Amino acid sequence: MRTLITNIKELIQVRETPIAKVSGTEMALLPKIENAYLLIEDNLIAEFGKMENLPEISVDKTIDATGKVVLPTWCDSHTHIVYAGNRVQEFVDRINGLSYEEIANRGGGILNSAKKLNETSEEEIYNQSKLRLEEVMQQGTGAVEIKSGYGLTVEGELKMLRVIKKLKENYPVAIKATFLGAHAFPTEFKENHSGYIDVIINEMLPKIAEENLADYIDAFLETGYFSIEETERIMEAGKKYGLTAKIHVNQFTAINGIEACVKHNALSVDHLEIVTDEDIEILKNSQTIPVALPSCSYFISIPYTPARKMLNAGLPLALASDFNPGTTPSGNMNFVIATACIKMKMTPEEVINAATINGAYAMGISETHGSITKGKRANLIITKPITSYYQLPYAFGTNLIDEVIIEGKVI
Ligand SMILES: [Zn+2]
Repeated sequence: MRTLITNIKELIQVRETPIAKVSGTEMALLPKIENAYLLIEDNLIAEFGKMENLPEISVDKTIDATGKVVLPTWCDSHTHIVYAGNRVQEFVDRINGLSYEEIANRGGGILNSAKKLNETSEEEIYNQSKLRLEEVMQQGTGAVEIKSGYGLTVEGELKMLRVIKKLKENYPVAIKATFLGAHAFPTEFKENHSGYIDVIINEMLPKIAEENLADYIDAFLETGYFSIEETERIMEAGKKYGLTAKIHVNQFTAINGIEACVKHNALSVDHLEIVTDEDIEILKNSQTIPVALPSCSYFISIPYTPARKMLNAGLPLALASDFNPGTTPSGNMNFVIATACIKMKMTPEEVINAATINGAYAMGISETHGSITKGKRANLIITKPITSYYQLPYAFGTNLIDEVIIEGKVI
């Protein structure tokens, strides 16, 4: 099956030579071809170039993209889209002035989601979660990482990871699964942290490995959640099963957690609303990519990741949605890139790099996703007619996507 896209106003994120990620000042550069064509063969990008150089080829289908921009689909490297129910009541409670502590004392927060998840059948969780996956695909996401972490019991965590596996089997979007048993301490282990970590290491991990249910391992490294030492135990245990770490860190406090993650060769450190100069120095000499989640900052009114400071220091940065029921009930990456421009003072070039090639790096798939490169997956966004790609973050509330192609097929 060959599909030819013609008369593309701007074909952006073109990388003739494959790259793994972009960092620092490179992030301001977004290579493009104006008045371009792109040829898809089956599920891969076969060829592209300027219209004037379009060879005579026979194709099965032609899409005329006059006036439209074509770019790689979003690579959303941090989500929790598998969950049961929602936390809309906490949202309203917060508007009415309740603090997090008060909400947590009423049975809210992560433990609220865990309760709902454990009460809901695997089939029902799948049916609720697939709607969210379908929604983000329509919004231009072609690759997504999904975490467990609302089970907090052996059965609950396995149930979530099996739902992720089923989504992987039934949808063309690339999915990476992350085991986040260390999301919070269940009430019965509130005073016995090492007891719960023993359950994670000795009961959950072996079963997850046996069924091959996870690609990565995560923990919520934060004051009042998992300490550095506790997170290190989890990262080490994950390593024994071949699970690289992707860690929630520096959301509310900076406690040298980033240093521990880098020491354990974490693929990514995510959140980073609070970042010290020392954290930046440590990240400079590492392969660990920082991931910012601006929709979360927006929704719960916490600081935004200091992107400018990090990019000026030469670091790479990825942007992800953090789609979850408590702090970010949205997986819309178009809103993520707009918010990063508006609130984090990133340029349109930087946010598109952060949400495509760097997002792919943050889930270990930049060899196959995240740029317009021959041989990569044909995962593409075709916009409506627009003046330039600047309009994507500018018109932040408007859906400017005309068509989404995943694995070579219009969805
Ligand atoms: Zn998260």
